[in-house]
Formats: sequence, structure tokens, C-alpha cells
Amino acid sequence: MLNSTNRFIKELRKELTSENVLSELEERYAYAQDASNSINIAGIPDAVVFVRNTEDVISVVKKAKKYKIPIICRGAGTNTVGACRVEHGGIILNFSKMNKILEINKENMTAKVQPGVILGQFQDEVEKLGLFYPPDPSNLRVSTIGGSIAQSSAGAKTFKYGSTKNYILDLEIVTANGEILHTGSDTVKNATGYNLTSLFVGSEGTLGIITEATVKLIVKPESSKVIMAYFDTVDDAVNTVNMIIEQRITPATIDFMDFNAINTVEQFYPTGLLCDKEAALIIEIDGFKNTIDFQEKIINDILLRCKASAIQISHNEEEYNKIWMARRSSMGACAKIKPNVTTDDVIVPRNNLAKLVKGIQNICEKYNLTTCLVGHVGDGSVHPQIPIDYNDADEYSRFKLAKSEIYDLTISLNGTISGEHGIGADKREAISKVVNTSALNYMREIKKVFDPENILNPYKIF
Ligand SMILES: Cc1cc2nc3c(=O)[nH]c(=O)nc-3n(C[C@H](O)[C@H](O)[C@H](O)COP(=O)(O)OP(=O)(O)OC[C@H]3O[C@@H](n4cnc5c(N)ncnc54)[C@H](O)[C@@H]3O)c2cc1C
Repeated sequence: MLNSTNRFIKELRKELTSENVLSELEERYAYAQDASNSINIAGIPDAVVFVRNTEDVISVVKKAKKYKIPIICRGAGTNTVGACRVEHGGIILNFSKMNKILEINKENMTAKVQPGVILGQFQDEVEKLGLFYPPDPSNLRVSTIGGSIAQSSAGAKTFKYGSTKNYILDLEIVTANGEILHTGSDTVKNATGYNLTSLFVGSEGTLGIITEATVKLIVKPESSKVIMAYFDTVDDAVNTVNMIIEQRITPATIDFMDFNAINTVEQFYPTGLLCDKEAALIIEIDGFKNTIDFQEKIINDILLRCKASAIQISHNEEEYNKIWMARRSSMGACAKIKPNVTTDDVIVPRNNLAKLVKGIQNICEKYNLTTCLVGHVGDGSVHPQIPIDYNDADEYSRFKLAKSEIYDLTISLNGTISGEHGIGADKREAISKVVNTSALNYMREIKKVFDPENILNPYKIF
């Protein structure tokens, strides 16, 4: 006698073919973890299901509803908060076969994409046509558009261009009932009813399943250049951020690496970073070619006034890529120090940035933890990356205490516990520190409206 899960999987296999339904133990284990790198694998999926089109998704959802089986969507699994871990059984819905760019419309400056499209590849295709899709999480070479929408991802270029939220015009959603819902329209403006698009962006797969997205594009800046400025103190680096912003010039990015991040990257992925410096800012300027020198001069003057002790400037694409590769390698490099690595994502209003950066460094020092600090500091956003050995119980308990203090510090500085990585499973307990009871209750009611049976990524976020 088959139980309901087995009946469900049997039906899926019949409809989607066996090659699209993986259920061997080792296959299921491979999808039990995500980039949150949790200490415990809470559970493993009952099956991993590859969908090829919206009809497949509808069919899976209807069957899951019938058998009350949870569905956990998964793009590349690179979220850092346990958003696609399987805690209550159910299937992983894998979008790697829904990876087509359906349209790039030059006239409208919009594109339609399936959720499994790799973000970096999409940017490349758009840029070939002189257009630009700015949202750029640091791991854009592997993460998917669907995951970035569900997680409300941002990235270095948020400072000038905004985040994923600002570029989504319409989502095709398969609801928990198996119906298709459109959240917006193909137009670049829309004041027609509630803004459902905004509700679904950042909903972490808990409200509906994204099967297609219409995104806004902008004109690709004609030219860009990246300036890596080094400082002998963290204070000097952070003060420089404010000085740049006080001028009427808006770089595309103002990113940050501290001493540990610089040295760890240089140890494992050497690119010629200056290892005796306490901090570095990665400032990208872009725009018309004939404005680049002007912007560079203004920034250079500010850097010198703010005691930058060394400046590296990209003169060609290779040098440009080298600097960004160094910044984007920090988590990979940290992962080489100890068996595990964790990252976090706290954000404060920019005027409290210095207190946050120094505070995190002090907390980690107090608990004898190494931290590599990187961040999109132009936004007030900081990622403490902490290498750790989960087998060391004492280190793990110090790590938990440090995390809690980092959240308390962030909140005391009027910040919040996620600027771009989301809440998932890992920050669920902390959400009530920053979202008040009334707002949380409305969120719970919204969840019930869209997913009354609680089958879509259950119990994530709150
Ligand atoms: C090294 C590193 C650097 C990073 N840098 C940044 C950064 O700079 N900025 C930033 O914002 N983030 C960053 N992140 C986090 C990560 O990039 C984002 O969360 C990412 O966009 C997730 O994409 P993914 O395809 O891996 O999604 P997944 O991790 O697979 O999924 C994320 C969430 O989306 C849901 N989901 C996936 N597909 C769908 C769908 N079709 N419909 C509904 N829900 C869906 C999942 O259920 C899950 O809740 C970084 C992560 C790493 C590991």
C-alpha cells in the first residue's frame, strides 16, 4: 500500500517522466542544503522535480494540493538564509530547465524571462543590445533571476540604480490553487490596483511560484571604471563614503572590504590587493565616456582629502574584472579558512555605518571569531562573513552570541536584519525584533489568503 507521498511521486513520474523526478536518497541529499551552510540538515526532500514549463508547474501544484505535500522552489540554492531548506518534507521544485530568455524588447526596454535564467548570463545578453539590467548580487554568475526576485536581491549597483524590486514590472505566478495570476503589466508604469508585484518580490517562495518575469531595462552606461581606494583606518574609509555622497556625484557602487577580507582573498585568490591596508572601498563610476575623467578627478580629490593611502584604477576590462573578482571572491576565500563559513546581511541608515562596522569588528573580537567584513556600504549594508568549525561546540556557541549581539547593535542603530538576503529559516526567530506584531500578523493573514493549505515553502520567514 503506497502512502500519499509515494502516490504523489508516482503520479509526478507518470506525467513529467522519470528523468524529471529524482527520488534516490543521494539525489535528495544533494538538495537538502543551500548556501546558508546550516549546522543541521533539517530534512531532505521527498523528491526533486524538474519543471519544463508553466503547465508542468500547474500540474505539480494541483497534485501537491491534493496530497498536501509542501513545495520548496529552488533556483541555484545560493540564498544564505536557509530559504530552500526542507524542514517539513515535500519536494524541491527545480527551475534549471525553465531557463529561457523569452524576449528582449528594445523598443519597450523590457525583457521576459523564465525563472531559471542565470542572472549574469541575462545581463550579458541584454548588454549586447546596449541595454542594462543592474541588479547584481555578488554571485550573479550562478544565481537565478527567479531566486533573486523571490529573495529581493540587491547588490553593489543598488547604490545608484536600485535593487531587483525596482525592475520587476510583472510576474506570472502559479498560485497554491494551481491558477495563473499576473501581478502587473508590460508597461513601465502601473497604478492599477494594489501593487501585487511588490508583494511577491521578496516573498521567498511562500506566496506563489514565479513562472515568468517581465523586467524593466535601462540604457547601458557608455563607459565605466572602477577605483579601489585603500585606507589605513576603517574610520577614514567610512568617512569617505559620506564625503563622496555629499558631493553631487553618484558612483554606481561604493563597496567595502576590511583588512581580513583583503588578506583572505589575496591569500587564496591573489590579484595584487594591498595587504597592509585596514580597509578598501571599491568605487565604480559610469556614464558617458566624456564624463568619466571628470568623475574620476572629483573622486580622486575626495580620496586624497580623506587620507586614502593608495589608489588602484582599472584602465581596461581585464583590470576592471580583476578588482570585482577580488571583491566577489571574499566568501569563497573565507570558506577556505575553516570547514564552514557563514555570512550575514545587516543594514543601517548610512549615518550609522561607522558605528556598525566598528561594532561588528569589536563583537567578533570579543568572541574570538575571525570576521571578513564586506558590504555595499553606499547603502549602509554590511556582510560579516565568519569562517567557523561547526564541530567546535565552544566556537559555535560564541558565534551564536556574536550574531545576536550584531542584530541588537544593528537595531540600536535604527537598522534592520536583512537588506538583501532575506529571512528564510535562519532569521525567522529574529524577525519579531524588527517587524512589529501587528505587521507580522498581517503578513500571516496574507500568507493564508494566498496559500491556505500552507504548502508553499511552509514556515519560512515567520
Ligand atoms: C557568495 C554569495 C554572494 C552573494 N551576494 C549577494 C549580494 O551581493 N546581494 C544579494 O542580494 N544577495 C547575495 N547573495 C544571496 C543570493 O545571491 C541571492 O539570495 C540569490 O539571488 C538567490 O538566487 P538563487 O537562484 O540561488 O535562489 P535560491 O537560493 O535557489 O532560492 C532563493 C529563494 O527563492 C525561492 N525561489 C526560487 N525560485 C523561485 C520561483 N521560481 N518561484 C518562487 N520562489 C522561488 C526559493 O524557494 C527560496 O526561497 C549572495 C550569495 C552568495 C552565496
